[in-house]
Amino acid sequence: MQRLPTSTDAVHGGETRPSAHHAVAPPIVQTATFAFESTSDLRRFMAGEDADPDRTEYARNGNPTVRAVERRVAALDGAEDALLFASGMAAITTSVLALVKAGDHVILFRDAYRKTRAFVAKTLARFGVEHTLVEPGDLGALQAAFRPRTRLVVTECPTNPYLRCIDLSELARLCRAARAKSLVDATFATPMNAAPLAWGVDLVAHSATKYLAGHNDVLGGTVSGSASLISLVRELRAEMGPVADPHQAALIGRGMKTLALRVARQNETALAVARALEGHAEVERVHYPLLESHPDHAIAKAQLRGGGGVVSFVVRGGREAAARAVDRFRLATIAASLGGTETLVEPHALLSYADLDEEALSQAGIAPGLVRLSVGVEETSDVVSDVLQALAC
Ligand SMILES: *Cc1c(COP(=O)(O)O)cnc(C)c1O
Repeated sequence: MQRLPTSTDAVHGGETRPSAHHAVAPPIVQTATFAFESTSDLRRFMAGEDADPDRTEYARNGNPTVRAVERRVAALDGAEDALLFASGMAAITTSVLALVKAGDHVILFRDAYRKTRAFVAKTLARFGVEHTLVEPGDLGALQAAFRPRTRLVVTECPTNPYLRCIDLSELARLCRAARAKSLVDATFATPMNAAPLAWGVDLVAHSATKYLAGHNDVLGGTVSGSASLISLVRELRAEMGPVADPHQAALIGRGMKTLALRVARQNETALAVARALEGHAEVERVHYPLLESHPDHAIAKAQLRGGGGVVSFVVRGGREAAARAVDRFRLATIAASLGGTETLVEPHALLSYADLDEEALSQAGIAPGLVRLSVGVEETSDVVSDVLQALAC
């Protein structure tokens, strides 16, 4: 069973006392390099004997403002350790690269985040790493896809945009049996709604740009897991350099203080929107994991504390009807991304998938009338009214 974090964890998780300079808000330590008192201090540090395990000699290897956020992320994910990166993609690509080599095989689900899929299918392929795509939610297909050289399975929880949920404990069991590692991108769930590590998964990643930072004002990414796996990823991060800077870390850490409050409101509002849309005359289909009509409803109920802040729905009449509805939103802003304080609406075929024609869209499983709504922290009734007035024609 998973133990999910609380609002207290979101505020205080992983903190050390007394704080540096007795500051209540973590100081922004703006420095590229760190000083030594003497060569004996330097020798002690190099021998790994410094009293502070987080001390570093250079900011690409670590920074106190960044480290404070990493400790809190580890506490929220229930992990031994965590790392913060310049973006979600930096976290995912560095973690994947740390685990695979030429000749290895990676499995991912067809509805993976587009850039994650592109990284595995195009970039890793150039370095001799093979991959297999399996259908969303299909554990049988996953089992059949394992090969002797399968090193890694990557999935999201829930997935984008149809919010598919897979049985993570079963996925972790299949991976262990095949001696492959599992990496779950839990951006949509956030640490408040799911704890993939508790189900036996090896690594959990978040795009901190979304719910963790939560204010649509900064990029960031995290990965959490065992101390040994995280130290592998940390080494590669120091080689490649996709580190978060201290101001970025301070914004993310500040945003995380209210993570529990925001996600609780977003869970409530998204469920209210999903219920209001189900059966609506202008809506062909609503995708939300906590609706009974969702194909993974049972898994979602068992695995998630809340359904998250994203609702996807298909407007009757296709691409143009969806565009007209999106233009009528007054509160929600037309923008990519999710997880922030502002409600955002995205006509999928015109934004994230704008490069695809009708046939490619259909192959990607994206309905032309698909709209993805990321609810913010406005009043639930205001968000529901906005959606309903946008659909009233
Ligand atoms: C946004 C997102 C990413 C990428 O994160 P960035 O911070 O934009 O690099 C990865 N996975 C999911 C599920 C996301 O929503």
